Amino acid sequence: MYRINENYLKLPGSYLFSTIGKKVSAFSAANPDKRIIRLGIGDVTQPLPGAVVEALHRAVDEMADADTFHGYAPDLGYEFLRKAIAENDFQARGCAVEPDEIFVSDGAKSDSANIQEIFAADSKIAVCDPVYPVYVDSNVMAGRTGSYDKESEVWSDVIYMPCTAENGFVPELPEKTPDLIYLCFPNNPTGCTVTKDQLQVWVDYANRVGAVIIFDAAYEAYISQEDVPHSIYECEGARGCAIELRSFSKNAGFTGLRLAYTVVPKDMVCGGVSLHSLWARRHGTKYNGAPYIVQRAGEAVYSEEGKAQIRSMVDRYMKNARYILEGLKSAGYEVYGGVNSPYVWMKTPGQMGSWEFFDYLLERANVVGTPGAGFGPSGEGYFRLTAFGSYENTVEAVERIKEI
Ligand code: PLP
Repeated sequence: MYRINENYLKLPGSYLFSTIGKKVSAFSAANPDKRIIRLGIGDVTQPLPGAVVEALHRAVDEMADADTFHGYAPDLGYEFLRKAIAENDFQARGCAVEPDEIFVSDGAKSDSANIQEIFAADSKIAVCDPVYPVYVDSNVMAGRTGSYDKESEVWSDVIYMPCTAENGFVPELPEKTPDLIYLCFPNNPTGCTVTKDQLQVWVDYANRVGAVIIFDAAYEAYISQEDVPHSIYECEGARGCAIELRSFSKNAGFTGLRLAYTVVPKDMVCGGVSLHSLWARRHGTKYNGAPYIVQRAGEAVYSEEGKAQIRSMVDRYMKNARYILEGLKSAGYEVYGGVNSPYVWMKTPGQMGSWEFFDYLLERANVVGTPGAGFGPSGEGYFRLTAFGSYENTVEAVERIKEI
Protein backbone atom coordinates (compact mmCIF):
# COMPACT_ATOMS: atom_id res chain seq x y z
CA MET A 1 0.00 0.00 0.00
CA TYR A 2 1.38 3.39 -0.91
CA ARG A 3 2.11 5.88 1.79
CA ILE A 4 1.83 9.62 1.74
CA ASN A 5 4.34 12.27 2.77
CA GLU A 6 3.15 12.59 6.35
CA ASN A 7 4.85 15.93 6.73
CA TYR A 8 1.86 17.38 4.88
CA LEU A 9 -0.40 16.26 7.72
CA LYS A 10 1.56 18.43 10.12
CA LEU A 11 0.58 21.60 8.28
CA PRO A 12 -1.97 23.58 10.24
CA GLY A 13 -4.98 24.54 8.09
CA SER A 14 -4.25 27.63 6.03
CA TYR A 15 -7.11 29.31 7.73
CA LEU A 16 -6.18 32.99 7.51
CA PHE A 17 -7.71 34.00 4.18
CA SER A 18 -10.44 31.36 4.29
CA THR A 19 -11.56 32.56 7.73
CA ILE A 20 -11.51 36.15 6.50
CA GLY A 21 -13.56 35.10 3.44
CA LYS A 22 -16.11 33.29 5.58
CA LYS A 23 -16.48 36.17 8.01
CA VAL A 24 -16.89 38.71 5.20
CA SER A 25 -19.46 36.54 3.38
CA ALA A 26 -21.49 36.05 6.57
CA PHE A 27 -21.43 39.79 7.30
CA SER A 28 -22.37 40.61 3.73
CA ALA A 29 -25.29 38.16 3.75
CA ALA A 30 -26.61 39.63 7.00
CA ASN A 31 -26.07 43.24 5.85
CA PRO A 32 -26.75 43.38 2.12
CA ASP A 33 -27.04 47.19 2.16
CA LYS A 34 -23.50 47.73 3.49
CA ARG A 35 -20.69 48.42 1.01
CA ILE A 36 -17.59 46.57 2.19
CA ILE A 37 -14.14 47.96 1.31
CA ARG A 38 -11.28 45.45 1.17
CA LEU A 39 -7.92 46.70 2.28
CA GLY A 40 -6.75 43.20 3.09
CA ILE A 41 -5.71 41.94 -0.31
CA GLY A 42 -2.09 41.45 -1.27
CA ASP A 43 -2.94 41.38 -4.98
CA VAL A 44 -2.47 44.32 -7.31
CA THR A 45 -5.47 45.94 -9.00
CA GLN A 46 -4.10 48.22 -11.73
CA PRO A 47 -3.87 46.82 -15.28
CA LEU A 48 -0.59 45.88 -16.95
CA PRO A 49 1.52 48.81 -18.18
CA GLY A 50 1.07 49.71 -21.88
CA ALA A 51 4.65 48.76 -22.81
CA VAL A 52 4.08 45.30 -21.36
CA VAL A 53 0.79 44.82 -23.19
CA GLU A 54 2.40 45.85 -26.51
CA ALA A 55 5.26 43.41 -25.95
CA LEU A 56 2.75 40.66 -25.22
CA HIS A 57 0.87 41.36 -28.46
CA ARG A 58 4.08 41.33 -30.48
CA ALA A 59 5.21 38.07 -28.90
CA VAL A 60 1.83 36.43 -29.52
CA ASP A 61 2.13 37.36 -33.21
CA GLU A 62 5.61 35.80 -33.29
CA MET A 63 4.17 32.60 -31.84
CA ALA A 64 1.61 32.51 -34.67
CA ASP A 65 4.29 32.30 -37.37
CA ALA A 66 6.47 29.21 -37.97
CA ASP A 67 9.49 31.42 -38.64
CA THR A 68 9.33 33.22 -35.31
CA PHE A 69 7.62 30.59 -33.17
CA HIS A 70 9.28 29.69 -29.84
CA GLY A 71 8.98 26.33 -28.14
CA TYR A 72 10.62 25.40 -24.84
CA ALA A 73 12.50 28.30 -23.31
CA PRO A 74 16.13 27.84 -22.22
CA ASP A 75 16.28 26.32 -18.72
CA LEU A 76 17.55 29.45 -17.02
CA GLY A 77 15.48 31.90 -19.06
CA TYR A 78 16.05 33.82 -22.29
CA GLU A 79 19.32 35.71 -22.53
CA PHE A 80 17.52 38.95 -23.55
CA LEU A 81 15.64 38.98 -20.24
CA ARG A 82 18.51 37.88 -18.01
CA LYS A 83 20.72 40.55 -19.57
CA ALA A 84 18.08 43.26 -18.99
CA ILE A 85 17.68 42.12 -15.38
CA ALA A 86 21.42 42.01 -14.66
CA GLU A 87 22.03 45.44 -16.16
CA ASN A 88 19.04 47.26 -14.71
CA ASP A 89 18.40 45.63 -11.35
CA PHE A 90 22.01 45.02 -10.34
CA GLN A 91 24.85 46.47 -12.42
CA ALA A 92 23.17 49.91 -12.57
CA ARG A 93 23.27 49.85 -8.76
CA GLY A 94 26.89 48.77 -8.60
CA CYS A 95 26.07 45.12 -7.76
CA ALA A 96 28.18 42.51 -9.49
CA VAL A 97 25.51 40.11 -10.73
CA GLU A 98 25.95 38.48 -14.13
CA PRO A 99 23.16 37.33 -16.47
CA ASP A 100 24.17 33.69 -16.04
CA GLU A 101 23.61 33.93 -12.27
CA ILE A 102 19.92 34.71 -12.87
CA PHE A 103 17.30 31.97 -13.03
CA VAL A 104 14.01 33.10 -14.56
CA SER A 105 10.91 31.49 -13.08
CA ASP A 106 7.15 31.79 -12.76
CA GLY A 107 7.04 33.29 -9.28
CA ALA A 108 8.82 34.25 -6.11
CA LYS A 109 6.29 32.10 -4.28
CA SER A 110 7.45 28.95 -6.01
CA ASP A 111 11.12 29.96 -5.82
CA SER A 112 10.90 30.75 -2.11
CA ALA A 113 9.16 27.42 -1.52
CA ASN A 114 11.52 25.37 -3.71
CA ILE A 115 14.91 26.78 -2.84
CA GLN A 116 15.13 24.73 0.38
CA GLU A 117 15.37 21.54 -1.71
CA ILE A 118 19.06 22.06 -2.44
CA PHE A 119 19.95 22.13 1.26
CA ALA A 120 20.40 19.26 3.70
CA ALA A 121 17.25 17.73 5.16
CA ASP A 122 18.36 18.56 8.70
CA SER A 123 19.17 22.22 7.99
CA LYS A 124 17.98 24.59 10.71
CA ILE A 125 15.90 27.45 9.40
CA ALA A 126 15.41 30.89 10.92
CA VAL A 127 12.46 33.09 10.01
CA CYS A 128 11.16 36.48 11.02
CA ASP A 129 8.00 36.46 13.11
CA PRO A 130 5.57 37.59 11.64
CA VAL A 131 6.45 35.99 8.32
CA TYR A 132 5.27 35.29 4.75
CA PRO A 133 3.94 31.77 5.48
CA VAL A 134 5.47 30.06 2.42
CA TYR A 135 8.97 29.97 3.94
CA VAL A 136 7.81 27.94 6.92
CA ASP A 137 5.24 25.75 5.18
CA SER A 138 7.65 24.63 2.45
CA ASN A 139 10.08 23.51 5.17
CA VAL A 140 7.26 21.73 6.99
CA MET A 141 6.57 19.75 3.81
CA ALA A 142 10.25 18.86 3.66
CA GLY A 143 10.17 17.57 7.24
CA ARG A 144 12.54 20.15 8.64
CA THR A 145 10.47 21.92 11.27
CA GLY A 146 9.82 19.39 14.06
CA SER A 147 6.47 19.39 15.79
CA TYR A 148 3.82 22.09 15.90
CA ASP A 149 2.43 23.45 19.12
CA LYS A 150 -1.14 24.57 18.51
CA GLU A 151 -1.22 26.69 21.63
CA SER A 152 1.81 28.84 20.89
CA GLU A 153 1.58 28.32 17.10
CA VAL A 154 5.29 27.62 16.80
CA TRP A 155 7.36 24.75 15.34
CA SER A 156 9.85 23.08 17.67
CA ASP A 157 12.74 23.13 15.16
CA VAL A 158 12.27 26.60 13.67
CA ILE A 159 14.24 29.57 14.96
CA TYR A 160 11.82 32.49 15.23
CA MET A 161 13.13 36.03 15.16
CA PRO A 162 10.47 38.36 16.55
CA CYS A 163 9.92 41.63 14.69
CA THR A 164 7.99 44.04 16.84
CA ALA A 165 7.69 47.77 17.47
CA GLU A 166 10.36 47.36 20.17
CA ASN A 167 13.06 46.37 17.66
CA GLY A 168 11.73 48.53 14.83
CA PHE A 169 10.55 45.35 13.06
CA VAL A 170 14.16 44.41 12.32
CA PRO A 171 15.12 41.01 13.76
CA GLU A 172 18.02 40.58 16.12
CA LEU A 173 20.68 37.99 15.37
CA PRO A 174 19.41 34.63 16.68
CA GLU A 175 20.90 32.93 19.73
CA LYS A 176 20.85 29.49 18.09
CA THR A 177 22.84 29.25 14.86
CA PRO A 178 20.71 28.63 11.76
CA ASP A 179 21.80 27.15 8.43
CA LEU A 180 19.20 29.00 6.35
CA ILE A 181 17.95 32.48 7.18
CA TYR A 182 14.89 33.83 5.42
CA LEU A 183 14.80 37.61 5.25
CA CYS A 184 12.24 39.69 3.38
CA PHE A 185 12.77 43.45 3.03
CA PRO A 186 10.70 45.52 2.45
CA ASN A 187 8.69 43.14 4.55
CA ASN A 188 5.36 41.47 4.10
CA PRO A 189 3.43 41.86 6.38
CA THR A 190 5.02 44.62 8.49
CA GLY A 191 5.79 46.99 5.61
CA CYS A 192 9.04 47.86 7.39
CA THR A 193 12.54 47.52 6.06
CA VAL A 194 16.22 47.65 6.93
CA THR A 195 19.01 50.09 6.20
CA LYS A 196 22.06 48.96 4.30
CA ASP A 197 24.09 48.97 7.54
CA GLN A 198 21.52 46.76 9.25
CA LEU A 199 21.54 44.32 6.35
CA GLN A 200 25.34 44.30 6.33
CA VAL A 201 25.20 42.97 9.92
CA TRP A 202 23.22 39.98 8.63
CA VAL A 203 25.58 39.37 5.73
CA ASP A 204 28.59 39.48 8.05
CA TYR A 205 26.82 37.15 10.48
CA ALA A 206 25.92 34.64 7.74
CA ASN A 207 29.49 34.61 6.46
CA ARG A 208 30.79 34.20 10.01
CA VAL A 209 28.58 31.25 10.98
CA GLY A 210 28.39 29.65 7.53
CA ALA A 211 24.69 30.26 6.92
CA VAL A 212 22.83 31.11 3.73
CA ILE A 213 20.49 34.09 3.57
CA ILE A 214 17.47 33.71 1.33
CA PHE A 215 16.63 37.32 0.65
CA ASP A 216 13.14 38.01 -0.69
CA ALA A 217 13.05 41.41 -2.38
CA ALA A 218 9.60 41.07 -3.95
CA TYR A 219 8.71 44.62 -2.81
CA GLU A 220 11.93 46.30 -3.92
CA ALA A 221 10.09 48.67 -6.28
CA TYR A 222 8.39 50.37 -3.32
CA ILE A 223 11.59 51.59 -1.70
CA SER A 224 11.59 55.38 -1.44
CA GLN A 225 14.30 56.10 1.11
CA GLU A 226 17.96 56.58 0.24
CA ASP A 227 19.65 54.33 2.79
CA VAL A 228 17.43 51.31 2.09
CA PRO A 229 19.17 48.62 0.03
CA HIS A 230 17.39 47.47 -3.15
CA SER A 231 19.42 44.30 -3.29
CA ILE A 232 21.36 42.30 -0.72
CA TYR A 233 24.31 42.40 -3.13
CA GLU A 234 24.77 46.05 -2.19
CA CYS A 235 26.31 44.61 0.98
CA GLU A 236 29.92 43.52 1.02
CA GLY A 237 30.38 39.78 1.06
CA ALA A 238 26.78 38.98 0.06
CA ARG A 239 27.87 37.11 -3.05
CA GLY A 240 29.31 34.44 -0.79
CA CYS A 241 26.24 33.87 1.36
CA ALA A 242 23.03 35.21 -0.18
CA ILE A 243 20.43 34.09 -2.67
CA GLU A 244 18.04 36.82 -3.78
CA LEU A 245 14.46 36.40 -4.96
CA ARG A 246 12.66 38.97 -7.06
CA SER A 247 9.26 39.13 -8.67
CA PHE A 248 7.50 41.06 -11.44
CA SER A 249 4.21 40.74 -9.53
CA LYS A 250 4.18 43.81 -7.34
CA ASN A 251 6.26 46.24 -9.42
CA ALA A 252 4.70 45.57 -12.82
CA GLY A 253 1.37 43.92 -12.06
CA PHE A 254 2.36 40.40 -13.20
CA THR A 255 0.43 38.54 -10.47
CA GLY A 256 -1.76 36.96 -13.14
CA LEU A 257 0.92 36.78 -15.84
CA ARG A 258 3.60 35.12 -13.61
CA LEU A 259 7.27 36.02 -13.82
CA ALA A 260 10.08 36.18 -11.29
CA TYR A 261 13.73 35.32 -10.90
CA THR A 262 16.28 34.03 -8.41
CA VAL A 263 19.93 35.04 -8.22
CA VAL A 264 22.38 32.37 -7.12
CA PRO A 265 25.90 33.84 -7.25
CA LYS A 266 28.62 31.55 -8.52
CA ASP A 267 30.68 32.40 -5.41
CA MET A 268 28.41 30.26 -3.24
CA VAL A 269 30.26 27.01 -2.78
CA CYS A 270 29.68 24.41 -0.07
CA GLY A 271 32.16 21.56 0.37
CA GLY A 272 33.44 22.14 -3.17
CA VAL A 273 29.92 22.08 -4.67
CA SER A 274 28.50 25.18 -6.30
CA LEU A 275 24.97 26.10 -5.20
CA HIS A 276 24.51 27.65 -8.63
CA SER A 277 25.03 24.30 -10.32
CA LEU A 278 22.72 22.54 -7.84
CA TRP A 279 19.95 25.06 -8.47
CA ALA A 280 20.55 24.85 -12.23
CA ARG A 281 20.18 21.06 -12.00
CA ARG A 282 17.01 21.38 -9.96
CA HIS A 283 15.55 24.08 -12.21
CA GLY A 284 16.34 22.10 -15.37
CA THR A 285 14.81 18.92 -13.96
CA LYS A 286 11.61 20.26 -12.47
CA TYR A 287 10.79 23.32 -14.55
CA ASN A 288 10.41 23.93 -18.27
CA GLY A 289 10.71 27.68 -18.27
CA ALA A 290 8.48 30.76 -18.17
CA PRO A 291 6.57 31.29 -21.43
CA TYR A 292 8.34 33.20 -24.22
CA ILE A 293 5.57 35.78 -24.41
CA VAL A 294 5.81 36.42 -20.66
CA GLN A 295 9.59 36.78 -20.79
CA ARG A 296 9.20 39.31 -23.62
CA ALA A 297 6.67 41.13 -21.42
CA GLY A 298 9.26 41.10 -18.62
CA GLU A 299 11.87 42.58 -20.97
CA ALA A 300 9.47 45.47 -21.71
CA VAL A 301 9.45 46.36 -18.01
CA TYR A 302 13.06 47.53 -18.52
CA SER A 303 12.35 49.68 -21.61
CA GLU A 304 12.36 53.45 -20.99
CA GLU A 305 8.59 53.51 -21.52
CA GLY A 306 8.08 50.49 -19.27
CA LYS A 307 10.19 51.95 -16.48
CA ALA A 308 8.17 55.19 -16.50
CA GLN A 309 4.89 53.29 -16.52
CA ILE A 310 5.76 51.02 -13.63
CA ARG A 311 7.06 54.02 -11.69
CA SER A 312 3.71 55.74 -12.04
CA MET A 313 1.88 52.54 -11.08
CA VAL A 314 3.94 52.16 -7.92
CA ASP A 315 3.44 55.88 -7.19
CA ARG A 316 -0.32 55.42 -7.38
CA TYR A 317 -0.22 52.64 -4.81
CA MET A 318 2.15 54.63 -2.63
CA LYS A 319 -0.25 57.57 -2.66
CA ASN A 320 -2.76 55.19 -1.08
CA ALA A 321 -0.17 54.01 1.43
CA ARG A 322 0.56 57.61 2.44
CA TYR A 323 -3.14 58.33 2.85
CA ILE A 324 -3.60 55.31 5.11
CA LEU A 325 -0.50 56.11 7.12
CA GLU A 326 -1.22 59.81 7.62
CA GLY A 327 -4.96 59.29 8.14
CA LEU A 328 -4.53 56.66 10.83
CA LYS A 329 -1.71 58.56 12.51
CA SER A 330 -3.85 61.68 12.73
CA ALA A 331 -6.62 59.59 14.28
CA GLY A 332 -4.20 58.52 17.02
CA TYR A 333 -3.37 55.02 15.80
CA GLU A 334 0.14 53.62 16.07
CA VAL A 335 1.13 52.77 12.48
CA TYR A 336 4.25 51.42 10.79
CA GLY A 337 5.48 50.62 7.30
CA GLY A 338 3.85 52.24 4.28
CA VAL A 339 6.94 54.30 3.33
CA ASN A 340 9.03 51.73 1.47
CA SER A 341 6.20 49.26 1.06
CA PRO A 342 2.55 48.97 0.03
CA TYR A 343 1.73 47.53 3.46
CA VAL A 344 0.75 49.47 6.56
CA TRP A 345 1.07 47.61 9.85
CA MET A 346 -1.06 49.10 12.60
CA LYS A 347 -1.14 48.38 16.30
CA THR A 348 -4.64 47.35 17.32
CA PRO A 349 -6.12 49.85 19.76
CA GLY A 350 -6.11 49.13 23.50
CA GLN A 351 -5.73 45.48 24.32
CA MET A 352 -7.71 44.31 21.29
CA GLY A 353 -6.46 41.13 19.63
CA SER A 354 -5.95 41.04 15.86
CA TRP A 355 -9.10 39.02 15.20
CA GLU A 356 -11.16 41.08 17.62
CA PHE A 357 -10.09 44.22 15.75
CA PHE A 358 -10.89 42.51 12.43
CA ASP A 359 -14.50 41.91 13.59
CA TYR A 360 -14.76 45.41 15.04
CA LEU A 361 -13.58 47.04 11.81
CA LEU A 362 -15.81 44.87 9.64
CA GLU A 363 -18.91 45.53 11.73
CA ARG A 364 -18.38 49.20 12.51
CA ALA A 365 -16.57 50.52 9.42
CA ASN A 366 -17.31 47.74 6.91
CA VAL A 367 -13.59 47.64 6.15
CA VAL A 368 -11.62 44.41 5.72
CA GLY A 369 -7.95 44.11 6.65
CA THR A 370 -5.74 41.19 7.65
CA PRO A 371 -5.22 40.17 11.30
CA GLY A 372 -1.51 40.20 12.13
CA ALA A 373 -1.82 37.01 14.17
CA GLY A 374 -2.30 35.14 10.88
CA PHE A 375 1.38 35.76 10.06
CA GLY A 376 2.82 34.39 13.29
CA PRO A 377 2.62 34.82 17.07
CA SER A 378 4.41 38.19 17.09
CA GLY A 379 1.76 39.51 14.69
CA GLU A 380 -0.83 39.32 17.48
CA GLY A 381 -1.98 42.81 18.38
CA TYR A 382 -1.25 44.11 14.86
CA PHE A 383 -3.29 44.49 11.72
CA ARG A 384 -2.25 44.76 8.05
CA LEU A 385 -3.79 47.18 5.59
CA THR A 386 -2.70 47.25 1.96
CA ALA A 387 -2.39 50.06 -0.57
CA PHE A 388 -3.44 47.95 -3.55
CA GLY A 389 -7.02 49.23 -3.72
CA SER A 390 -8.31 52.25 -5.64
CA TYR A 391 -7.58 55.72 -4.27
CA GLU A 392 -11.30 56.44 -3.79
CA ASN A 393 -11.86 53.27 -1.79
CA THR A 394 -8.72 53.86 0.25
CA VAL A 395 -9.83 57.37 1.17
CA GLU A 396 -13.31 56.21 2.10
CA ALA A 397 -11.99 53.30 4.16
CA VAL A 398 -9.62 55.55 6.11
CA GLU A 399 -12.36 58.11 6.75
CA ARG A 400 -14.64 55.35 8.03
CA ILE A 401 -11.92 54.01 10.33
CA LYS A 402 -11.31 57.53 11.63
CA GLU A 403 -15.00 57.97 12.40
CA ILE A 404 -15.19 54.90 14.60
N1 PLP B 1 7.28 37.00 -1.54
C1 PLP B 1 6.54 37.77 -0.75
C2 PLP B 1 7.13 38.33 0.47
C3 PLP B 1 5.21 38.05 -1.08
O1 PLP B 1 4.47 38.81 -0.27
C4 PLP B 1 4.65 37.49 -2.25
C5 PLP B 1 3.25 37.72 -2.63
O2 PLP B 1 2.43 38.24 -1.95
C6 PLP B 1 5.46 36.69 -3.03
C7 PLP B 1 6.77 36.45 -2.66
C8 PLP B 1 4.91 36.03 -4.25
O3 PLP B 1 5.40 36.56 -5.43
P1 PLP B 1 5.00 35.94 -6.82
O4 PLP B 1 3.71 36.55 -7.25
O5 PLP B 1 6.14 36.28 -7.72
O6 PLP B 1 4.86 34.45 -6.67
